[in-house]
Amino acid sequence: MKVSKKIVLLGHFGVGKSSLIRRFVENTFSEDYKVTIGVHIFKKNVTIPEKGADVSLVIWDLEGNDDINNTRLSYLLGTHAFIYVYDVTRPATYENLQTEINFLKEKQKNTPITVVGNKEDLVTKAYLKQNNDNFGSLTDLYVSAKTGDKVDLIFSNLAEALIK
Ligand code: GDP
Ligand code: MG
Repeated sequence: MKVSKKIVLLGHFGVGKSSLIRRFVENTFSEDYKVTIGVHIFKKNVTIPEKGADVSLVIWDLEGNDDINNTRLSYLLGTHAFIYVYDVTRPATYENLQTEINFLKEKQKNTPITVVGNKEDLVTKAYLKQNNDNFGSLTDLYVSAKTGDKVDLIFSNLAEALIK
């Protein structure tokens, strides 16, 4: 079975959307900050041997938006799954998490949303635990594009969920 799925990454400027994609697709990381303008589209295949499935992920890297209401709705059409990224070191990027998620749920109904807190390498486990008490019910994974920790897991979990 071979299927193609559209994945869209969303979140504020500088939270690490492009870095997570680069880590997943090319297994590289850079400290240089290059702003994404418009949209970049990447492709990577994920094989799930137990299911005999070959999932082609078409990953959309949207330019950052500190107000989700400014997201171009045409980019969201046909999305099979969202990855909402925030930066664990910058509260401004997760303060409105619930509102932003509600926005996506309203615009693109029945589309799964994976919420990831990125840059976990910059904080302690204790800090994450405390953060988790406030936002944990919404956060699926804490990851790091820099170390690569759990980045593959975001996409492999998604791929598996999407072929069910
Ligand atoms: P985007 O605007 O959401 O696409 O964010 P970028 O991927 O361009 O990353 C913004 C900045 O954060 C860059 O300087 C990256 O090097 C840095 N960055 C991204 N992910 C991580 C991470 O997991 N850990 C650390 N320490 N820095 C990161
Ligand atoms: Mg970017």
